[in-house]
Amino acid sequence: MNDKHQSESRHCTEWNYYGQGPSKWHEQFPVAKGQRQSPIDIVTDQVVFDQTLSDNPLKISYSNNCCQSVTNTGASFQVAVDGAGTEISGGPLDSTYKLVQFHAHWGHGGNEGSEHTVDGVTYPAELHLVHWNTKYKDVTEAVDKPDGLAVIGIFFTEGKEHSGFKPITDMFSKVPRKTDKVEFKFKFDPACLLPAERNYWTYLGSLTTPPLFESVTWIVMKDPVEVSAGQLAALRSLLWETPSGEGQMGNNYRPPQPLQGRLVKASFTEETTVEDIIPAVVLSALAIGVGAIFTISMIRTKRW
Ligand SMILES: [Zn+2]
Repeated sequence: MNDKHQSESRHCTEWNYYGQGPSKWHEQFPVAKGQRQSPIDIVTDQVVFDQTLSDNPLKISYSNNCCQSVTNTGASFQVAVDGAGTEISGGPLDSTYKLVQFHAHWGHGGNEGSEHTVDGVTYPAELHLVHWNTKYKDVTEAVDKPDGLAVIGIFFTEGKEHSGFKPITDMFSKVPRKTDKVEFKFKFDPACLLPAERNYWTYLGSLTTPPLFESVTWIVMKDPVEVSAGQLAALRSLLWETPSGEGQMGNNYRPPQPLQGRLVKASFTEETTVEDIIPAVVLSALAIGVGAIFTISMIRTKRW
């Protein structure tokens, strides 16, 4: 490419979490203000349980030799995956999708970092497993189609060390700067990163980084997985370019976007069901009734 083309392509693809941060992305990517943007705040009161999701469970099948390399992209780490032997189907998906990469978003501190939020609550990090719909030729053809991608989101919460995630964080010291890349020299099955319970919320959304294509069926796991303070620190040990020079990577998340009338479905029912509420309502009514009778009888006693 000559200089003119290089500067043009730089201009077209320049985005970050600073001066050209999420609130400015719409200037180069107008779809940022579109009708199915991600992430969103999941308001559990407004989520609808979908029986078809529990009748047709999400099937996730990965392999222990699908991970090829980990790269510092300048905005996250990214594990490149050979899709062979990695398939997800069922649940909200009407065909088979293959894993192509996974990465994460996290905060500089523990009070923020996840992209999706639940009733306004954030987690310190969120992992994204990105899959493409095999009805298309490849991920490049699928990436901008309305049913092209399916992303599984997994919240990280601070707790005990995650032995499954450790081999990944252990590689970060080898990829401190943008474009640094190291090959996997060991077996790793991404399924170890999934929570034990596979309850999830699902909705139609978008990529959360430019070009923000509205092509993602989101599957956000309800239960977070625990990682240690040291593993969160390992994420923050990665470096990126900031206006004031090289700095620790963090707050690389896009805030929640307007729901725009979309429906968020759950594969599970909340613990508090109508059946749980009825006895409490009946007891309260009885208590009020008994109280009222007692009060009236007291008044009558006084009067007479
Ligand atoms: Zn992501």
